[in-house]
Amino acid sequence: MKVNIIEDYHIHSNFSPDSNSLVEEIIQVAREKGIGHIIITDHFELADQHANEIDVETYRKQMERYSLPVGVELGWDGTKELNIDTSKFDYVLLSHHYVEEPITQESYKNYLLRLLSIIEQFDGYHALAHLDFPRRYHPNKEPFSLELFDTIAEILSKVIKRGKILEVNMSSFKLYGEPNPSLEILKLYRSLGGRNLVIGSDAHDVQHIGRYILEGIEMLKSIGYNYILVFDMEWREVRI
Ligand SMILES: [Zn+2]
Ligand SMILES: [Zn+2]
Repeated sequence: MKVNIIEDYHIHSNFSPDSNSLVEEIIQVAREKGIGHIIITDHFELADQHANEIDVETYRKQMERYSLPVGVELGWDGTKELNIDTSKFDYVLLSHHYVEEPITQESYKNYLLRLLSIIEQFDGYHALAHLDFPRRYHPNKEPFSLELFDTIAEILSKVIKRGKILEVNMSSFKLYGEPNPSLEILKLYRSLGGRNLVIGSDAHDVQHIGRYILEGIEMLKSIGYNYILVFDMEWREVRI
């Protein structure tokens, strides 16, 4: 298989309530698109009205049947009981999906403070998902203001210090031409010494698998990144 796209490490299947994609279809489409590595990261959402718990044993068996790493997108608000054994997964993508409406810089700030509290309390994850995620829902897609960058730097410093990975999520690219997190935040991560990155489409539909990842890689190169991480039962750097 000719590899056109190094990886897509954020894909949903029908184990998520908001996707109908079958694991077989995902593998087939990834092969057709020349995606070198995929991880399916279904929602295990503890936080809100979209709460969803995966039957971990069934899920693991399904991923293992196709020799896929066992990934999960763990959604948490920092307060609900964490009734999940994350050691059962090869890849835990940590998310926080709640933001107060109307969405303003003030709600961005509250979101960031919750995210900071989440990563202060919990260490059982590999990558932090879509850091400035609420921007997707802002009426004008306003970036996080510079006043919030101290808090963002605190979050990024914890990610770096604990050896975690920052996810570059491309699903916002069609909305406003930038990943989550934005290029300014990715530059800040780099200036703080951050090097560990993965990239994903956040596809909830098979046709979106691999979408905008090539554009995302070009953007990373343009701000000085030379590597992303790939998982082959252990993490290694791949040149971009
Ligand atoms: Zn998410
Ligand atoms: Zn997702």
